Amino acid sequence: MELQELKDLLKKSGIVGAGGAGFPTYAKLSYDVNTVILNGAECEPLFRVDQNLLATHTDEILTGLSLVVEAVGAKEGILAYKEHYHEADEAVERVIYKYPRLRKKLLKDGYPAGDEVVLVYETTGRVVPQGGIPINVGAMVMNVETAFNVYNAVEKKEPVTYKYLTVGGAVNEPKTLRVPIGTKFGDLIKEAGGPSIESYKLLVGGPMTGVIGSLNDTVTKTTKGIFVLPMDNPIIELREYRLKVALKRAMGVCSQCRMCTDLCPRNLLGHSIEPHKIMNSLAFGLDYNSEVFVNALACCECNLCSAYACHQGLNPKAIIADLKGRLRANGVKLPKIDSKVKDEREFRRVPVGRVVARLKLTKFNVDAPLNEMTLEPNILTIKTRQSIGAPVTLVVNKGDKVESGQVIGNIDEKSLGVFLHSPIDGIIDEVNKDYLVIRREG
Ligand code: SF4
Ligand code: SF4
Repeated sequence: MELQELKDLLKKSGIVGAGGAGFPTYAKLSYDVNTVILNGAECEPLFRVDQNLLATHTDEILTGLSLVVEAVGAKEGILAYKEHYHEADEAVERVIYKYPRLRKKLLKDGYPAGDEVVLVYETTGRVVPQGGIPINVGAMVMNVETAFNVYNAVEKKEPVTYKYLTVGGAVNEPKTLRVPIGTKFGDLIKEAGGPSIESYKLLVGGPMTGVIGSLNDTVTKTTKGIFVLPMDNPIIELREYRLKVALKRAMGVCSQCRMCTDLCPRNLLGHSIEPHKIMNSLAFGLDYNSEVFVNALACCECNLCSAYACHQGLNPKAIIADLKGRLRANGVKLPKIDSKVKDEREFRRVPVGRVVARLKLTKFNVDAPLNEMTLEPNILTIKTRQSIGAPVTLVVNKGDKVESGQVIGNIDEKSLGVFLHSPIDGIIDEVNKDYLVIRREG
């Protein structure tokens, strides 16, 4: 398929990155890409979506990846997943001979293996320059489920209306499910056998990068997992940190041991982020060295410094994320510079098992088998903003009848964003600028 034809189809099919912030996939496709990397690292602890999908929908995913490789004219596509994903690997081994432009790269265990910049280096040896993006080194990264969605759009003419996600933590039956976009989190917890503890918080997204959510919130195109966690779990405590307190504590107890910097995955790739210096400068109100602050923009917010590295229980990531927001609001940009990978990087790899243990998640680190017999809720609440980019313009009104797969929101040609579709046959019960509610017919 021609590149422009594929881009138009992906936009109209509502495809965004299914594994992260949800960048519209069509906007990543370009003739400058010579390597397309399938991100199956699933670096967040407890997620099981990509390994399950790769093991069960192997041909579809490899076809989706090949379609992109061919359309952009890339030299090759690389399937990247961890060496201990045995089931996925066996499934790939059975079919990869049919795809001459694809090869696999097994990744060593470590967090954050799925960070785009880390993944590009691990699979190609190329270092994305600080302040740059993978295309600067000819690479494009695409999540496993995104490749599956490309296959569905091209071969089956199906837009994105369902999402695969893991429901885990303190639930009676951890599962990986396929559910309509707009499904309530509360329904997902029930489907996973209900909570196994009385008092809990809900974490939406992975333990390292997720946020605290509510049972009434609903699935979007980027929801990859939800987890029930005890109130006193360290992740919950970290998320509930107040910024002012974080700064005061940094002032009081940061020992400047620099563990946060020594384990920082971006620093190890040669980017200039140095969290210990930011902590020192911010905590003591020192603002004479603006470079230290600007370098905060190189942080990928993996949370390794706060959730794992810091022996004082400080929260450099939260402080840096806030700083990044303020720098961006003032139009500050990170200078693009070439980076030199540090020699010690190989020895500073942080095994996911160690992260799991540190976060008191070991008992929740279990299988979450894929169940494709989806939940079919009667009411779906679908947000108009599902991912990075502009919100859609709704093209339906209260009382309208809609069919499964019908466009309910579109986006003009010039805006970055993708179309939105109804997952079910139903009636529009409510419409406003933030969301719409669809009630299943019958
Ligand atoms: S690891 Fe913690 S104590 Fe050490 S320098 Fe970083 S923030 Fe300070
Ligand atoms: S969150 Fe911390 S460890 Fe991760 S990139 Fe940012 S500064 Fe480095």
